[in-house]
Amino acid sequence: MASKGLLQTEELYKYILESSVFPREPEPLKELRDVTANHPRKLMATALDAGQIITMLLQLVNAKKTIEIGVFTGYSLLLTALSIPEDGKITAIDIDRDAYEIGLPIIKKAGVEHKINFVESEALPVLDQLLTDHENEGSYDYAFVDADKVNYWNYHERLLKLLKVGGIVVYDNTLWGGSVAKNENETPEFYRPGRHLTIEFNKQIAADSRVQISLAPFGDGITICKRIM
Ligand code: SAM
Ligand code: CA
Repeated sequence: MASKGLLQTEELYKYILESSVFPREPEPLKELRDVTANHPRKLMATALDAGQIITMLLQLVNAKKTIEIGVFTGYSLLLTALSIPEDGKITAIDIDRDAYEIGLPIIKKAGVEHKINFVESEALPVLDQLLTDHENEGSYDYAFVDADKVNYWNYHERLLKLLKVGGIVVYDNTLWGGSVAKNENETPEFYRPGRHLTIEFNKQIAADSRVQISLAPFGDGITICKRIM
C-alpha cells in the first residue's frame, strides 16, 4: 500500500486511498490484497489508485477481449475480470504460476475464473503465437503490461498489432519511483537499470505517431496509450 513517493507527501497518498479508493474497492479485491500482504514481493501488486483508474478505462472502452502481461497474485487481473462483461476474455501471461495460485481461490469465489486463460510462459512467445492467427490482429480492446521492463518496447510492437484502432494499452511503472526525473548519481543502485530502460521507453513511445498517450502519475506512473492508426 506504500506510495512510490511521487506525490507531495505520504499523507496525501493515504488521503486518496481512504477518501476515494477504499470506499469503492470491490470486496474480492480487498481479499486479494489480504492474501498478498504476507508475500515477500507484495510491493509488486498494482497500486490501488492506478487500479481504480484502470477500472474506469476498461469500462470506458467497453473492453471485452483483453491481455495481461505480469499477473503476480492477480490484483490487476481480478479487477479486469470484474470490469469486463460475462463473455469477456483475458489472456493472462506470467512466468510464475505459483503467485497466481495464491489469488486463484478468490478469483474463483468472485465467479470470474471463466473469463481468464492463464498462460504460464514468457510473454513474448505467447504474443507471437497469438499473432500467427490473423483473426487476432486488430481484435483486442485492452492490454495491461506490468512485467519485465526490458521488454516493454517488444511488447508494444506486438500489442499494437493485436489491439484494434481505439484500443488501449496501459504500461505500469513508467515513472519508476520518480527516478526518471533524477540524475543517475542521485538514484539508488537498485533503481538504476530500470530508470534507464524507463527513460528510453518513455522517449520511444512519445515519438510513436501510431498512438495517443498520457503518462499519468497514478501509483508508480502509468502510461495510458491508445492506438489511433
Ligand atoms: N500486475 C500484477 C499485480 O497487480 O499484482 C503485478 C505484476 S508483477 C509487478 C510482475 C510480474 O511479471 C511477476 O509476477 C513476474 O513473474 C512477471 N514476469 C516477469 N518477467 C516476465 C516475462 N518475461 N514474461 C511473463 N511474465 C513475466
Ligand atoms: Ca507494477
